[in-house]
Amino acid sequence: MTATIGNLPWADVLAQARGLDGRGGAPVPPGAAALSDLAVSGPAEIVAVTRELARETGSALMSSGGTTGKPKLTYVPYHQAVERVLREWRPLRPDNVLLNLFNPGRLWASHYYIHALAERSRCTVLPSGAYPPEDVGNWVPMFREIGLDALTGTPSALADFAEGLIAANETLPIRTIIWLAEPWTDAKHRVVQKAFPEAEYWANYGSVETYIIATNTPACDLQTLHVMPDQMLELEEEGALLTRRGTGWTMPAVRYRLGDRLASAECRCGRPDGLRVLGRADDAVSLRSALFSVGEVVSSARTLPGVEEAQLVLTRDTESPRAATALTLEYSGGADAEDVLAHLTAQFYHLAAVHRQVPGAITARRVDKVSRVERTNKVPPAIWRQ
Ligand SMILES: [Zn+2]
Repeated sequence: MTATIGNLPWADVLAQARGLDGRGGAPVPPGAAALSDLAVSGPAEIVAVTRELARETGSALMSSGGTTGKPKLTYVPYHQAVERVLREWRPLRPDNVLLNLFNPGRLWASHYYIHALAERSRCTVLPSGAYPPEDVGNWVPMFREIGLDALTGTPSALADFAEGLIAANETLPIRTIIWLAEPWTDAKHRVVQKAFPEAEYWANYGSVETYIIATNTPACDLQTLHVMPDQMLELEEEGALLTRRGTGWTMPAVRYRLGDRLASAECRCGRPDGLRVLGRADDAVSLRSALFSVGEVVSSARTLPGVEEAQLVLTRDTESPRAATALTLEYSGGADAEDVLAHLTAQFYHLAAVHRQVPGAITARRVDKVSRVERTNKVPPAIWRQ
């Protein structure tokens, strides 16, 4: 039986599924008696269901594409489920002054979600988007004057901001940091902690299609999140499935396939229904017939001392979409490229075989900065070149 996080009464799940049948959701088979009898849903159902629901209320059309997958459109209601989230997760007080480092525009949701969260929390927000490190110093006098004490962004954007502040020899009394949309690396967390030693960390897990699924507070382990009530997750290898009941969400969900592999986790806070994000579910790639997971190779490289951030640059095999003819591991940090390459071939024997047979097919290269996605400022685990 598939492991789950959270639990919902079958009658409620069935009512939810029947409510969506005919409104863009999958048909409910006659005699359905358990969750596994219901169809798995994906991007096609999401766009149909949310478009239907938005007819009366209006919506903002958002897209989750651009980082690692094909674009997926969702009609997001203006309330953005903020009241639902605030019932159990309140990172902001009315006296906070929050710098929103999520890039606006390009149908990306995070900036607008945070803006709505700030609005409902009655605090002050600066809808700025991300700063390159070299720009941060110029803004510090203004930040100090307005009493900036909270930051929100991807770990990459937060680390850039911290790096810029340290380089400018400045400090800011940041007490609250809200992060989402990508995992921390040790190096990014270290620089943010160094710049803001008094900050408490808050986080959400979700996606543009689903909005918030799980929350994390300063009492939690850094990367463990708790599934919000009225939801459950089936933990499948091909991507976890989300089911919800009740109202107030941005969209209803019946066995909606998330792009991430998730695992149950205990948390130091003692709350139940903990999860950790293991990585993307669809990240298998072949290099000259050797199959590997992009996430596993990148994670393994990041464990090496002197590797701060890592990314695969793959040369596409023109014959097949998920196949590569060459792989370069690009990394930032002080490690020696030969050591990084030796580590990879020692850890992944399939790759070692390719390395022996086709000299030059696998290489490691030190770079000042790995590539980011311009739209979201996230670090993609892999980049494809023709
Ligand atoms: Zn916790």
